[in-house]
Amino acid sequence: CADLAMYHAKAEGRNNFQFYTREMNEKALAQLNIERRLKVAIQKNCFELYYQPQIEMSTGLVKGVEALIRWNDEGTFISPETFIPIAEESGLMEQIGEWVIIQAVKDAVKLNELIPNSLRVAINLSASQFRESDKLIQLITDQLKCTGLKPDNIELELTESMLIGDLDAVIETLEAFRALGITLAIDDFGTGYSSMSYLKNLPIDTLKIDRSFINDIGVDASDAAITVAIITLANELNMSVLAEGVETQEQMEFLEQHGCRAYQGYFYSKPLPLDKLLELLN
Ligand code: C2E
Ligand code: MG
Ligand code: MG
Ligand code: MG
Repeated sequence: CADLAMYHAKAEGRNNFQFYTREMNEKALAQLNIERRLKVAIQKNCFELYYQPQIEMSTGLVKGVEALIRWNDEGTFISPETFIPIAEESGLMEQIGEWVIIQAVKDAVKLNELIPNSLRVAINLSASQFRESDKLIQLITDQLKCTGLKPDNIELELTESMLIGDLDAVIETLEAFRALGITLAIDDFGTGYSSMSYLKNLPIDTLKIDRSFINDIGVDASDAAITVAIITLANELNMSVLAEGVETQEQMEFLEQHGCRAYQGYFYSKPLPLDKLLELLN
């Protein structure tokens, strides 16, 4: 940062030097502050999981829920989009991710006791968790064993960036999850660097169409075309497909007309705390 600031300072004069360094320092300080607060939050257990319903179009039934972490930092809500990258960088994400899995499995047990239908809980994995795959597999195996939860009540969400690199190693990890009886989804599909060819090699059950495409289905022909292409791809490869971020009736109908059989989004429900989710399901 200092070098970059120096470069700008030389190029643009002395005042800019102060401007750039101050801005960069503020950002670094804000990150450091979040990092410090995260450490406290981990100790004091200040996280909560919210759950967003996933709907099957043909029946209108809730088939699953996605677990989404919430951090209430002494009255201030801090978005996972803000703190997860910082937690990753500072080596805190593994611990947080472990908490997410333990809590989500507990909640999945509770949900499946209290509602008549079987419900699948989808859990987002972080990059660092996925890198430590042996630990992760052990943790999930232990949690399933000690709670008695059926493995098909758990789905793991991966992002495309986790799946690039050593393909054999990735396949081995995914096969290990599959061997446990857990299903796998690719999150934010269409936004990453993945090539189509790896899809045929990976044991993936579901593609989740990123909400950036769904958002503009009705106004941007390219987004509509990409959405239809992903649905077709999933159907042809015998994978399930779920649309994220569905906010309107029109979006839902477009998806249904084009063969997408499941969705989640504000149109049906925002992510809810467990008790509110139970109210909704009952
Ligand atoms: P994601 O996994 O793609 O989750 C979907 C995000 O879209 C959630 O944001 C959800 O609240 C939001 N969303 C759902 N429906 C709609 C809609 O109709 N309109 C709009 N505008 N947004 C909608 P959230 O909860 O803020 O999470 C953001 C991201 O943070 C997640 O994206 C995921 O990548 C990450 N994340 C959240 N919880 C966890 C977690 O427990 N572990 C890990 N590793 N990552 C998590
Ligand atoms: Mg997700
Ligand atoms: Mg997503
Ligand atoms: Mg995302």
